[in-house]
Amino acid sequence: MSILVKIADLDLSNKVVLLREDYNVPMKDGVISDDTRIVATLPTIKQILEGGAKIIIVSHLGRPKEGEYDKSFSLAPVAKALGNYLGAEIPIIKNWTNGIEMSNCNIVLCENVRFEKGEVTNDDDLSRKMAQLCQVYINDAFATSHRAQSSTHGVAKYAAVSAAGPLLINELKALTRGLRKPDKPIVAVIGGAKVSTKLTVLEKLYEKIDKLILGGGIANTFLKAAGYEIGKSLYEKDLVEASTKILREATKYNCDIPLPVDVVTGENFHEETVATIKSIDEIGKNDMIMDVGPKTIENLNKIINEAQTIVWNGPLGVFEFDQFANGTKRLANAIAASNAYSIAGGGDTIAAISKFKVEKNISYISTGGGAFLEFLEGKKLPAIAILEEAARAWIAMEKGREL
Ligand code: AMP
Repeated sequence: MSILVKIADLDLSNKVVLLREDYNVPMKDGVISDDTRIVATLPTIKQILEGGAKIIIVSHLGRPKEGEYDKSFSLAPVAKALGNYLGAEIPIIKNWTNGIEMSNCNIVLCENVRFEKGEVTNDDDLSRKMAQLCQVYINDAFATSHRAQSSTHGVAKYAAVSAAGPLLINELKALTRGLRKPDKPIVAVIGGAKVSTKLTVLEKLYEKIDKLILGGGIANTFLKAAGYEIGKSLYEKDLVEASTKILREATKYNCDIPLPVDVVTGENFHEETVATIKSIDEIGKNDMIMDVGPKTIENLNKIINEAQTIVWNGPLGVFEFDQFANGTKRLANAIAASNAYSIAGGGDTIAAISKFKVEKNISYISTGGGAFLEFLEGKKLPAIAILEEAARAWIAMEKGREL
C-alpha cells in the first residue's frame, strides 16, 4: 500500500485538526434514516481528541446548489446525532471559511461544504482558506476520494501537514488485498440502472477477470447488443455499440459474459405490476425486464460457488419491488455463502445487502460507490494521490529535523 501519514505518526497536542469525513447519510424529511456512516467515524474522532487536538469536521451532504444555504441539505441533524453519541453538544457552524472560534469547545461541525462556492471546482482560494483553519488536515472519507474538490484535494496541498484517517486507510487496505493480487477465478457482478455510469469500469474489467455477470438496465443494453428483443425495458440506445464491443473484446481476454437466459418482466414500472417469468427469446414489445429469472439465477449460483474472488456493484433487478427482488436476493445469499474473498460497494448494493441481511458474510463492504468503481478500474484516486505527495514531503521534513 502507498505511504500515507497516519494519526499515530503525529503529535496532535494543542493542535487544531480539520477532519474531512463522509456524512452523506440517507435522510428523509430531515431525519437520518441510517447513521452507519456517523457511527463509523466515532473512533477517529476519539483518537484525535485523545491526542490532545481540537477538531473542525467538514463533510458534504447531497448535491445542493453551490454558493447557497439550503436547509434541506443542512448537516444540523448530523451535528445532533454526533453530539448524542459523543455526549456533548456539537455546534454547527454556518460561515466558517474565514475562521472558527473554538475557545469553548473541542469539536465543531461545519455546514455542508458544498454550500461553499469553489468546493466542487477545487478552487485554490477556498482550499487555502480551509488549510488556514488548521495545523493538521486529516482525510478520512474514502467515498469522496475519487473527486478532486477543495475539501478532499486542494486543502491537502496547502495544509501544514496532511494525513489519512483510519477509515480511509482500512478501506484502502481491504480493497488492495482483494483487488491488486486477487485469487482466481475472479468474478465481477455489475448491475444497476445504466451502462453510462459504469462504462469505464466495464471496459477495464474484462482484461482482469474470468467472468462478468451483468444485471439490471446494464444487462438489458447488452441483451439488445446481442440482438434480443427487450420490449420497453430500460436500456441505453447510445451505448449498444459500446456494449457490442465489450462483448467482442472480452472473448479475446477469455472473460466470459453470461447474459441472462430468462428474466422476470412486468408491464410497467410500478410496485404492484404483475411479475411474469419469460425465457429471453419470448420478450414482447410491451414487456419490461425488471429482474433475472430462475434459470439464470441457477447459472449464477454455480459461477459464484466456484469463484475465489467476487466483486459486486449494483443490483440485478428492481430489488426495491418485492416481485423483482429475487435475483438480487439470491445473488446476495450466494455471495454470502461462498468461501471467496468478496467485496461489495455502492449505495444501492449496500441497501440490498442490508435488505437481505447478509452484511456479516461479505468479506468487505466498501463505503464508496464512484470511488470503489474507480479503484476497480485501477485509477489513481486524486484525494489519495495528494495525501501520498504530502506524506513524501512530511517524511523528508521529519528526516531533515532528525539530522
Ligand atoms: P445504480 O445506481 O446504477 O446501481 O442502479 C440501481 C437502481 O437500478 C436500483 O434502484 C434498481 O431499482 C434499478 N434497476 C435495476 N434493474 C433494473 C431494471 N431492469 N430496470 C429498471 N431499473 C432497474
